[in-house]
Amino acid sequence: MYHQSTTFKYDNSDEMGKLFDLEAAGYFYTRLQNPTNDAVAAKICSLEGGVAAMLTSSGQAANFYAVFNICEAGDHFIASTSIYGGTYNLFNVTMKKMGIECTFVDQNLSEEELGKYFKPNTKLLFGETITNPTVKILDLEKFARVAHSHGVPLIIDNTFATPVNCRPFEWGVDIVTHSTTKYMDGHGVGVGGCIVDSGNFDWLAHAMNYPGLTTPDDSYHGIIYAEKFGKGAYITKATAQLMRDFGSIQSPQNAFYLHVGLETLPLRIERHCQNALAIAKYLEENDNIAWVNYADLPSSSDNELVKKYLPNGTCGVVSFGVKGDREHTVKFMDSLKLVSIATHVADSRTCMLHPASHTHRQLSEEQLREAGVAPDLIRLSVGIENVNDLLADLEQAFNNL
Ligand SMILES: *Cc1c(COP(=O)(O)O)cnc(C)c1O
Repeated sequence: MYHQSTTFKYDNSDEMGKLFDLEAAGYFYTRLQNPTNDAVAAKICSLEGGVAAMLTSSGQAANFYAVFNICEAGDHFIASTSIYGGTYNLFNVTMKKMGIECTFVDQNLSEEELGKYFKPNTKLLFGETITNPTVKILDLEKFARVAHSHGVPLIIDNTFATPVNCRPFEWGVDIVTHSTTKYMDGHGVGVGGCIVDSGNFDWLAHAMNYPGLTTPDDSYHGIIYAEKFGKGAYITKATAQLMRDFGSIQSPQNAFYLHVGLETLPLRIERHCQNALAIAKYLEENDNIAWVNYADLPSSSDNELVKKYLPNGTCGVVSFGVKGDREHTVKFMDSLKLVSIATHVADSRTCMLHPASHTHRQLSEEQLREAGVAPDLIRLSVGIENVNDLLADLEQAFNNL
């Protein structure tokens, strides 16, 4: 059933009134919720093993809502430095203007060292299962232990792994976000995001820290989300307050495209991983290459983390550096014929990006290094084409150098 509709009809006035009191579940207006979106969110929720989920207009909106749902002016949170450039800007610049402060930490620090960054007003810990663009693996259980020992939830952006390769809730993560624009859609068709709640974080046990969930909401006749909605409290609040006020809803048409994409997700992910491993091995043996990072390579320092969290493979993204200067890198990229240069990543078609010249160009050299993005780093997003065609394209571009 697909609902390309902004509005919904009710049998009587009382039925509609109950919706606005949050006394009955249903649909008011597509700025907040739509049946198509809910069906697709429920599917992702089930893939992740969560209890409630919502779609957002983009991955950026998902990460913003996920944090802003439990943080307000005067609050603080902690995020790994090694996160997507757009999320880094959101946390470091835009949310700072809202009075919310984020401290960025090296995700490889020990539990004890990470613990030193927590303050009385710290509300959450944030990271990515597989970091974009550096494709490093986060130790989910370590992060979960640190977060929980400080009484805050762990929020993980699971975009690159997808629930096909990793289900963060099984490792103690509380809330998962996605840019569905990437593998879930898979065909570069629609921008979108998703937030999934495990329902495991006990807001009432930390009631003083999360007043938005544990004190009355005057805009809905004084309901208390954590009491009234239990495990569904977090997603209900994000829908009833944040979607109502900001309206970053995914268009139902895009939700439909996402639904189609999800049907082939397991097949595609398997192929992405096979192709990426073959290409990473080829690059590792190529004389033009300074370094290669792909966590599934036996040479990767992330081997132990891969075995534990991503035993069936990581993702299709490989990062590497070409020997020589920046012009050399650019010449290599410009010589490619099948592989396209695109901002996009995690798509069926192979594409490539040089963060220092493209997505991360607003960051200083120092910020780049802090984010673990080497100036020569190329992010190669390996698609599902025939791997021999991809290898041949790389080979001819190297021969052109
Ligand atoms: C792309 C991406 C985002 C942002 O998602 P959009 O859909 O582009 O807004 C967030 N996190 C990760 C890991 C991403 O790759």
